[in-house]
Amino acid sequence: MLGTFSAPEQRFHVERIGGRFRVISPEGKLVGPPFESRRAAVEAAQAMQAEADRHAKRGPRPCMCCGRNFDSEGIHNRLCAHCRSRGDAASLSIPTNSIAKIRRAAS
Ligand SMILES: [Zn+2]
Repeated sequence: MLGTFSAPEQRFHVERIGGRFRVISPEGKLVGPPFESRRAAVEAAQAMQAEADRHAKRGPRPCMCCGRNFDSEGIHNRLCAHCRSRGDAASLSIPTNSIAKIRRAAS
């Protein structure tokens, strides 16, 4: 049951310290008050995680390009999938004359 967190160092989690339950921040610091029950500590940890996620701007946000709401992966993720794929296509496009040169060199 326990130990299934894939990356506990990046999440708020709960540890039993000195007979009480403490919330540990992603940075490994003790946060919040000590709790008598694991359940209360886990609820506090989840609330802190939700707050951290809001600060990290994970979740729906408007695309910087087209303004459409999309499910962002984080502060670095500001373009919707559509605009991002369009941007990638533009940066990867090679002028046709250089492709012709490559083809000539290969044959
Ligand atoms: Zn967009």
